[in-house]
Amino acid sequence: MESDHYNDPVVIGGCSVPVRVSRKSKPGLTTVNVGGIPIGSETVAIIAGPCAVENPHQLLETAKYVKEYGAVILRGGAFKPRSSPYNFQGLGEEGVRMLREAGKATGLPIVTEVMDTRQVAFVAENADMLQVGSRNMHNYPLLKEVGLTRKPILLKRGMMATLEEFLLAAEYILNQGNEQVVLCERGIRTFEPTTRNTLDLSAVPMLKHLTHLPVIVDPSHGTGHRWMVPTMAKAAVAAGADGLIIEVHYRPEEALCDGYQSLSPDEFSLLMAGLRKVANAVGRQIYQPPEHV
Ligand code: PEP
Ligand code: MN
Repeated sequence: MESDHYNDPVVIGGCSVPVRVSRKSKPGLTTVNVGGIPIGSETVAIIAGPCAVENPHQLLETAKYVKEYGAVILRGGAFKPRSSPYNFQGLGEEGVRMLREAGKATGLPIVTEVMDTRQVAFVAENADMLQVGSRNMHNYPLLKEVGLTRKPILLKRGMMATLEEFLLAAEYILNQGNEQVVLCERGIRTFEPTTRNTLDLSAVPMLKHLTHLPVIVDPSHGTGHRWMVPTMAKAAVAAGADGLIIEVHYRPEEALCDGYQSLSPDEFSLLMAGLRKVANAVGRQIYQPPEHV
């Protein structure tokens, strides 16, 4: 009989860590390559774009702005995990195609969410990176399915998951042979109602202590307030994050989803200038593709 306990977890500083994700399992740190963009190296990668793909114009306008101001990967949800069934659910496959076109037009690799095992093959064919959202961090069939692809995976922390559970979810993906996993802290549920979530920035140094996988932060869902995003984005870089995923909309007031936490292009541009200073102050650099250097 197999025991209920996972095999030989590694203990680091008193915390038990699944074997494959453990920092002790390999000599260096993992760098994930997203369509040529490294996440998890000396540099800090900025992912930006709208919460949801709404139409080609909204997407392309937003994509052009975020690229101009220094984002290196374009985000956009097509299969949207909305809390209410009456809210905009996303454009599905059509949205993924729009994202692919916007990616081609701007030269930015794209990341989009998969919510169901049945969506994985199509999204893996059309996107550079697959996102598993907070609500699906515990969806083990989905974790196994994305683990069978050879695409990079952006795994978001479950809103009620401990770091051990988060790392076990990543271990599911690595166990299928896919080591290209980026962990994303996006806030957890606490008793505090003023913010959408409590952004757990202490997860960044802890995860980097425990695992070789890159760690990025989502200050948009982490706070739920546009005005807080720049402060927490800079704090995340200061805390050692390998990247950020930020919601930006060319007209946040018209957004079909999460407009209240989305930055305008001007706000994003200002934030990027601040991020460059903070990154320099902590001995890192915001990643820019070679042609921009
Ligand atoms: C998202 O990034 O679009 C999203 C829904 O985030 P989360 O899964 O963290 O809520
Ligand atoms: Mn959103």
